[in-house]
Amino acid sequence: MAAMSAGIIERYAAHLPVTAATPRVTLGEGSTPLVRSSRIGPSVGLEQLYFKYEGLNPSGSFKDRGMAVATAKALEAGAQTLLCASTGNTSASASAYAACCGLRAVVVVPAGGVATGKLAQALAYGATVVTVKSSFDAALKLVRQLADQPGVALVNSVNPFRIEGQKTGAFEIVEQLGRAPAQLFIPVGNGGNITAYWRGFGELVMTAGGSAPRMHGAQAEGAAPLVRGRPVTRPRTVASAIRIGNPASWAGAVAARDESGGTIEAVSDAEIMAAHRRLAREEGLLVEPASAAGVALLLRKAKARQVTDEGTVVCVLTGHGLKDPQALTRGLRIPRPVAPTLATLRRAIG
Ligand SMILES: *Cc1c(COP(=O)(O)O)cnc(C)c1O
Repeated sequence: MAAMSAGIIERYAAHLPVTAATPRVTLGEGSTPLVRSSRIGPSVGLEQLYFKYEGLNPSGSFKDRGMAVATAKALEAGAQTLLCASTGNTSASASAYAACCGLRAVVVVPAGGVATGKLAQALAYGATVVTVKSSFDAALKLVRQLADQPGVALVNSVNPFRIEGQKTGAFEIVEQLGRAPAQLFIPVGNGGNITAYWRGFGELVMTAGGSAPRMHGAQAEGAAPLVRGRPVTRPRTVASAIRIGNPASWAGAVAARDESGGTIEAVSDAEIMAAHRRLAREEGLLVEPASAAGVALLLRKAKARQVTDEGTVVCVLTGHGLKDPQALTRGLRIPRPVAPTLATLRRAIG
């Protein structure tokens, strides 16, 4: 029986490195909404601003697109274990796909470097979670050395099937708009996703004679190796998903920027959290901090009139807001309980 909503392998098999023998692994990833901006766009003179809301994937981030393909290929190759290092979302996604396929997930995360919701997800999905006293970059270096063991599939974005699956985000945007956008804004950590989107637009748009968007990547100021042109030893930012000092897909990210005539720039934590707040309060879109980085960069460029209303602009919102409760409640006052009387209720409402 066909699934109610086909996953990305089923929908895009012709564009993916799969054969009839590749299992159609899916948790219903992809088919995420492209939401037209109701207030942020108009406030900066952009009438055609859209948000690709990737937080609505099964484990709450875009990582599920790549993980579906990586898991299918791991199964096809006879693997029993999915292995990854992670700033959080890769571990949540790998754990979910391992669970649905009866595989073991082993995830290695930097101590104190993962948002609470993501760690809870990996544990709830039944993964073996190892917390190491190191950065993400050191954790990735370690797991890469474990990956040649029989039966083990490394599912970080150094796994080429991850990038292949993630390019389907670009396919969907082109389907949803009826054309490619003029500009795309996307947060950049390891650089896998910007590489994937650029490939996706390239395969779809350029072969059909259309034009591809300018790609704008946003890094956090304290974790901006691609902007500085060299690795960052101690990356720091509130946006834990992009707290990465030595991107695995460095060359792919730079190629996406240069070939598209785009930019990769750094935004401050204050700009990230301001964009995070505006997405929630002015659009009704709850994202995790990393996802707001692309919007922060867009807002800065729109203010400087570097982006004007000359074509469609899409921001990729990479992960769901509920994953990072600390970021959500920062600076908020949780209301104190009041007596259950009409008078106190009226006073509390103001
Ligand atoms: C992984 C991730 C990113 C960064 O993607 P890269 O492929 O590492 O550049 C951004 N936002 C969220 C929510 C992520 O999980």
